[in-house]
Amino acid sequence: MFSADAKDEIAAVAFDRACCPATFVRALAAFSGGGATRIISARRASAARAALRAAKLAGIGAVHAHPGRAPRRAVAHGAIELAHDAPLLPEAAAPARACCRRTWLRAAFLACGSASDPHRAYHLEFVPPDDGAARALAKGLGALGIDAGVSRRRARPLVYLKGAAAVADLLGRMGAARAVLALDDLLAVRYTKNATRRRVNSEAANAARAATTSVRQRQAALRIVRGVRGRSISSTLREAAQLRIAHPDYTLAELAARARPPVSKAAMAYRLREIERLAT
Ligand SMILES: [Zn+2]
Repeated sequence: MFSADAKDEIAAVAFDRACCPATFVRALAAFSGGGATRIISARRASAARAALRAAKLAGIGAVHAHPGRAPRRAVAHGAIELAHDAPLLPEAAAPARACCRRTWLRAAFLACGSASDPHRAYHLEFVPPDDGAARALAKGLGALGIDAGVSRRRARPLVYLKGAAAVADLLGRMGAARAVLALDDLLAVRYTKNATRRRVNSEAANAARAATTSVRQRQAALRIVRGVRGRSISSTLREAAQLRIAHPDYTLAELAARARPPVSKAAMAYRLREIERLAT
């Protein structure tokens, strides 16, 4: 659904300039692999409608739905045939003008692209009809500063992008604003969940560390108070030892507040360190 929604959104984007509709039809034809038969298989009705609209704007009146199917049904299946006398050829290479380059990118995605459901993976790919189209696509993406990988799946060339940032960037350039927002929302939720998990983990680790320290201090305090040295230590150290023995679960701050008179955390820490030192 994510991919289909993104395609519907991209298909609905208006053309920037008068040069763009012809670029759209040429790229759509090249990336859907119609070849000599000049059949555009845009796969989605929204894309087929965009192809018909673009052809009309480009003055290519001779575009009609796939023969052998009722026109309405053919558009629903995204299949359109260019008339053989239509004055344009399929063209996979990225155009020079920025407006047409965006249009070319949209056509390539509508013809042979798909995006994974971001709940499962941050992955966007194109399955161009032949190696020439795959090379042209990778080169055009590179010129746009988009780092795409090229691979092969079941003898078909594959051009792909990985990672949420790259996928969001490309969807954004194609005008799929809602798809980008959906991706961002999901990333924000993941980020928050991870941050929460990290915080909980670090709190648990801190608590475990504090408990270990407290046990150690209490044992030292018991040795001092019960031992021979108990008689010779200062009253402040004796108080600290007795507080730790009585309140093994107290934090340093809580122990410091219980001292008479109350002392700073640093002073209490010093006293407890002294107790540990004297006990060894
Ligand atoms: Zn243009």
